[in-house]
Amino acid sequence: MAATATERRLFIAGSWVENGDWMDVRSPYSGEVVGRVARGGAKETRRAVDAAVEAMREPLPAHKRAEILVKIAGGLGRRHEEAAQLICAEAGKPLKTARVEASRAMSTYTFAAVEARKLAGEMVPMDAAQAGEGKLAFTLRRPRGVVGAISPFNFPLNLVAHKLAPALAAGCAVVLKPASQTPLSALFLAELAEEAGLPAGWLNVVVGSAGEIGDVLVEDERVAVITFTGSGPVGWKLAERAPRKHVSLELGNATPVIVAADADLDAAAARIAANAFSFAGQSCISIQRVYVERAAYEGLVERLVPRVEALKVGDPADEETDVGPVIDDDARERILEWIAESGGELLTGGDADDEGLIRPTLIANPPPDAKVSCEEVFGPVCTVSAVDSLDEAAALANGTRFGLQAGVFTSRIDSALRLAQELEFGGVTINEAPTFRTDQMPYGGVKDSGNTREGPAYAVRELTEERLVVIEL
Ligand code: NAP
Repeated sequence: MAATATERRLFIAGSWVENGDWMDVRSPYSGEVVGRVARGGAKETRRAVDAAVEAMREPLPAHKRAEILVKIAGGLGRRHEEAAQLICAEAGKPLKTARVEASRAMSTYTFAAVEARKLAGEMVPMDAAQAGEGKLAFTLRRPRGVVGAISPFNFPLNLVAHKLAPALAAGCAVVLKPASQTPLSALFLAELAEEAGLPAGWLNVVVGSAGEIGDVLVEDERVAVITFTGSGPVGWKLAERAPRKHVSLELGNATPVIVAADADLDAAAARIAANAFSFAGQSCISIQRVYVERAAYEGLVERLVPRVEALKVGDPADEETDVGPVIDDDARERILEWIAESGGELLTGGDADDEGLIRPTLIANPPPDAKVSCEEVFGPVCTVSAVDSLDEAAALANGTRFGLQAGVFTSRIDSALRLAQELEFGGVTINEAPTFRTDQMPYGGVKDSGNTREGPAYAVRELTEERLVVIEL
């Protein structure tokens, strides 16, 4: 184990526990052990649900919840570099990107604290109908109940924050199952929550077998909500298995960008190069498909290729690195296979370097049914295809089963607004990469990409339900 390796237990009912079963957390870059984490299963998950149910018997007032959320944000501020180093070590995320994630997690907690303080129902205009005359009615927003949260490896701190912070703001206790490859950041957040004075049971973190933990979250009737971020097949299966729970899904994408002939090509090329390869393309909104009007095709390609070739590939702990490893060998082999079978022309990259890191890869004009054109690559791969019109571009962009975010580069307001309406996505960015996200935005997908919106204000709505109160005057 590395000298700096971290050891963490599970966090259940306010205690750090283990049952003798441990697992190693390894760097995706070096394979070195960067931490050791206690592993739990069905038994620990049931105990965690017991603790969450018990915690919710004594609701925390909104001001207390907000105070705790602010303190966690403060803890993240004080231990910002530690958080970034942890993300870098366990996810292999380049340090400069990991620092951005750590800052964003602070923002997520800060926005959630605001939501805790303003969580309120609304007045119902009862005398708007004759039958309502003489009555007063309003709604209360009540926490739905215990939240089972499941998070992915690629934003091990901030996507966990997007589960925990709104749940606490809404007054819901949580049982969190982080990704097995990246549990350290989640347990670090639990430590900050404990330090911030969160009473026992409001947050429980169980690391271990996805099947065992997931089965308890699905089957235990006391878990009212499942909030899942990860891959589509796992997410939709969970929703199918838990028809009576509120299941929120944040899933994948094959993120498209449309570049009009009238776009500022320097700006478009700079944003595409930066946002197709950051964290080796392992973001659900990493740019994967670029559709450019034929008149601008050569101009875009000649600006894009040198920018992509200038990205520094290497050790994620190196301050200069732009592109590090993908999460594991299976992912690397799959991505290299998809590149090899793409059927397009390789503009740059296409293979792995001496350290086994996939070089940022640009593929020109692959057929629409190639995997790189219609599945989520989740790797440092981007396609660039010439199209004859913006209509064709929109049809191709809409032509997959995904619908998370899409981007448009154009200097014409009419094209921008038309495409914003025609693109079937949860979000459309204009003259900005669709990889753009700040944590107060409503973020989520349509079609196979999900069924919810995250961002504390929106997540709090999902995690609470309205109770109507009618008073006879
Ligand atoms: P994943 O393989 O689906 O895993 C996500 C989480 O689900 C992990 O904690 C995993 O646990 C758990 N899991 C796996 N099988 C399960 C089961 N049967 N029951 C319950 N839980 C189960 O996804 P990933 O590879 O970590 O993440 C990449 C995917 O997430 C991509 O598709 C990406 O687009 C998507 N994503 C979406 C968003 C968004 O906001 N829309 C954000 C980030 C990522 P183990 O780790 O133990 O297997």
